[in-house]
Amino acid sequence: MEDVKKTYDQLLAEYNELQMQLDEANDTIDAIRTGQVDALIVNDGEGHQLYTLKTADQTYRVFIEKMNEGAVTINREGLILYNNSRFAAMVGMPLEKTIGLHFSDFIAEESRNVYDEVIANAWEEDCKEEIYLINTDGHTVPCFISCNTLELDEGVALSLILTDLTKLKETENQLKIKNLQLAAAHLATEKLNNELEDTVKHRTNELFVSREHFKYLANNIPQMTWTNLPNGEVDYFNQQWYTYTGLSAEDTRKYGWEKTIHPDDLQLTMDRFKASLKSGQIFEVENRYKRGSDGAYRWHLNRAIPLRDEQDEIAFWVGTATDIEDQKKEMDRKDEFIGIASHELKTPLTSLKGYLQLISSYKKDDMPGSVKQYVERANSAVNKLQRLINDLLDVSKIQAGKLEYAFTKVNLTDLVKTAVENAAHIYPEYNFIIRDGHDYLINGNAERLEQVLNNLIGNAVKYSPKNKDVIIQTTAENGFVRVAVTDYGIGLSDEQKDRIFERFYRVEDKKHMTSGLGMGLYISAEIINYHNGEIGVESESGKGSTFYFELPLV
Ligand code: ADP
Repeated sequence: MEDVKKTYDQLLAEYNELQMQLDEANDTIDAIRTGQVDALIVNDGEGHQLYTLKTADQTYRVFIEKMNEGAVTINREGLILYNNSRFAAMVGMPLEKTIGLHFSDFIAEESRNVYDEVIANAWEEDCKEEIYLINTDGHTVPCFISCNTLELDEGVALSLILTDLTKLKETENQLKIKNLQLAAAHLATEKLNNELEDTVKHRTNELFVSREHFKYLANNIPQMTWTNLPNGEVDYFNQQWYTYTGLSAEDTRKYGWEKTIHPDDLQLTMDRFKASLKSGQIFEVENRYKRGSDGAYRWHLNRAIPLRDEQDEIAFWVGTATDIEDQKKEMDRKDEFIGIASHELKTPLTSLKGYLQLISSYKKDDMPGSVKQYVERANSAVNKLQRLINDLLDVSKIQAGKLEYAFTKVNLTDLVKTAVENAAHIYPEYNFIIRDGHDYLINGNAERLEQVLNNLIGNAVKYSPKNKDVIIQTTAENGFVRVAVTDYGIGLSDEQKDRIFERFYRVEDKKHMTSGLGMGLYISAEIINYHNGEIGVESESGKGSTFYFELPLV
């Protein structure tokens, strides 16, 4: 009510006073900012107060204005007496508006308690803490606040230095994220490692089990068995090896094969084995191993097959040696029997032939037609028998290494012609076609080569019951002449092709039953080998075959 009663003059005076004070205050702030004075005036609710900065000088002020930290000075009531432009930027206000405000207005809600505590302490001793400011946008700014008391002429004030921690926090956060990612990666790696360890354990166990299975199997078969590394080094022998050879593991390592294989078979065995290691093809050889108990050499069939990994690389070789001594002896006995039997058969056969000749020449004109026919048939049967006996004798000779004969210059073209003419006579229903007719000369035995040709042509007829065409072609290339006999008969499978040159081998075919003993091709191969030539076959089951031999030209 008193105020209402104030006179115009009084009010005017008061207004002027206030205006003056305001001007003064602004001047003071300007003066302080520009360094003209070291004091400032603040209205703290109980009238205006003037604060003078005791030790401030121009250098410090510029320094404070320019520094990267927020700098604020507050009085006991918490009013801002001074702040630099960095602080104003931190709270998002123009510089001239912040002075005189309550500093606590810029403290974020979550930091209030900490702030109150810090400020309460700060008057007693210097202290530091982390707090959040809030700017005019409502954003919080993480800060590190450092408080020191400041002696002013008018009393003690607090100097607050605020370091913006936004960047630091961001980095810290990123670091935290990175750390989390690192921890996750670490966990994943550890998991993978564990899984890998499990797999390795599992595989090792599997390997152990399969190795044990293999050993169990290997120790319970009658053959000697071993395994080789890809370079040929033996890394395992089964029990039978040690039992048969009488060697210890140490001896085996020291002497290798040398002490066990017959000296005559060692070179061949080693050559074949080395060739297999190089080519990766199955190793096979027959040789004699010394039995430890009595020093006797027994024949064995050796075989080693390569086992390949997923990359098709040879992982190791598994070898076996099977005792074939008894079979070999049986074969020898059979050969001996065949030799004796064919010899024994030859004598009566020769007389039979002689008597047949006598009969056919005896009073030829008086002989009834039917008897003449019987004599002819008997002659043909005797010839067949003779061929068989000759074959049997040849086989025995080959076995004994005694099939030997003289070589002369032979005109192969003529030989082919003669053989084909004979065949045309014996098999009139067949159509023999000769291709090419140069005079190819070779060194050889005409009789034996004719035997080969007769055999090939005879087979072409025998194994081609339907198609009656047989082609005999002679060609020369690279110093070799090649004679090929082609038929369009039953043909051969790949497996059969590999074996038909073996002694007594015949294809078991219920559809095409033919007579024979499986000797013809075996003898033919021996004859061609004796001529330093090569014999072979190209064939497809059901389509026909081409049997050929190649001989060096003169
Ligand atoms: P054989 O004819 O007396 O049985 P060979 O040694 O002459 O004996 O022949 C061996 C085997 O080869 C025969 O049993 C037959 O199965 C096969 N063979 C030979 N020549 C032919 C051919 N031209 N076509 C099909 N198979 C053949």
